[in-house]
Amino acid sequence: MTKKKTEELKKKLSYENKNGWNLTHTSKQKVFDFAENYKEFLSENKTERETVESVLKEFKTRKKKQDFFIVNRGKNIALVRLGKENGMKLVASHIDAPRIDIKQNPLFEETEIALFHTHYYGGIKKYQWFNIPLAVHGVIVKENGEKIDIKVGEDDNDPIFVIPDLLPHLSHKAVDEKKVKEAFDAEKMNLIVGSMPFEKDEKEAVKLQVLSILNEKYGITEEDFISAELEIVPAIKPKDAGFDRGLIAAYGQDDRICAFCSKEAFFDAKKNSKTVVVLMIDKEEIGSDGNTGAKSRFLMDVVIEILKAKKEEVTLESVGNFFRESEVLSADVNGAVNPMYKEVHEKDNASYINHGVVMTKFTGHGGKYMANDAPAEFVAKLRKIFNDAKVNWQTGELGKVDEGGGGTIAKYLAAWNMEVIDCGPALLSMHSPYELSSKTDLYETYKAYKVFFEA
Ligand code: MN
Ligand code: MN
Repeated sequence: MTKKKTEELKKKLSYENKNGWNLTHTSKQKVFDFAENYKEFLSENKTERETVESVLKEFKTRKKKQDFFIVNRGKNIALVRLGKENGMKLVASHIDAPRIDIKQNPLFEETEIALFHTHYYGGIKKYQWFNIPLAVHGVIVKENGEKIDIKVGEDDNDPIFVIPDLLPHLSHKAVDEKKVKEAFDAEKMNLIVGSMPFEKDEKEAVKLQVLSILNEKYGITEEDFISAELEIVPAIKPKDAGFDRGLIAAYGQDDRICAFCSKEAFFDAKKNSKTVVVLMIDKEEIGSDGNTGAKSRFLMDVVIEILKAKKEEVTLESVGNFFRESEVLSADVNGAVNPMYKEVHEKDNASYINHGVVMTKFTGHGGKYMANDAPAEFVAKLRKIFNDAKVNWQTGELGKVDEGGGGTIAKYLAAWNMEVIDCGPALLSMHSPYELSSKTDLYETYKAYKVFFEA
């Protein structure tokens, strides 16, 4: 065979995925403009409650006439567009992110400094949260039911908060010589909230000063913290990263990148045969439990509302039939290969930054434990949809087989007897206070969700 023929054969038979910046069918300007909207979305939405509220607000201005929404307890939202065929095309993401919550009895004073006790939420590397600017977001619900919104640390004129680290001069025994896992004690991750005494010689005068400011500003007393949900998040704005501005650095991209792409795809989709649904879920980072997590019955409620809107009878059978005819993208992020830690991945089955949206047939750990292992038939169907629409996609597992692993909401959705596959972009520094995504991957993810809805 001639060299040319061999090359041709190789090209025909081999599978290769591409760097999105080398694609010619999408303009760089379009990709960059899309990223600007995304950065805005991330800076406005740092909790599940804030995300639901802002998506709802946007829905009201961008929806098509018959579209409807359902909100569950302010922490889940479903956007629905009815279709003629039975079943739905669902893109489901999660809008909670790893963070630091406060304890129920948070406020205390030590060495004349007032602090909040905290309890971290989700899989964090504790050391990353010391000495970075932090903001406090959330709600305090008073005994009479009145809900007070709190958001301090985001405005340029706001104060920020810090969890103080120990100086290197004195940290040898207390931190440096220990294993990282043990070196950072969750009980030492306390947030400085005040330093000035209310009055001279008063006992716990700094704590009292903080209480008096909070009382003046929000009308709350110490007991009100017990019915509060205050989330401590990085007070850092989304930024472009790199001289070429190809990456986005921001907090909460796992998994608000998928939430953002799914609602954009919903608003922009031009046609649909099945009912299309965008679902944003809570509690993924702590195991999908609770009445706002993926294991709750909320999705069943959504399906019942869809059947009612389609003037169909709601029976066990019709609900079951609807689920069976449904297809789902479990929209969640994957861990992109970090160039300095390639050894935790198996290179042929890892996902790479800039190489497009990632289709993950199975997550889980070890021998595919805890995995939704998507059926080959459904994977094939998606390949065709994506290839026909020139979506840049790749496949990837989260790390080497015996290295570790993680789960998504896919398996809980699959339990309703729907076709489900994980599908979302790969991030660098996932679960850190400042995660990195690629602008081209962001755009390809949006495209993937849109053509899925339209197919
Ligand atoms: Mn996630
Ligand atoms: Mn996560």
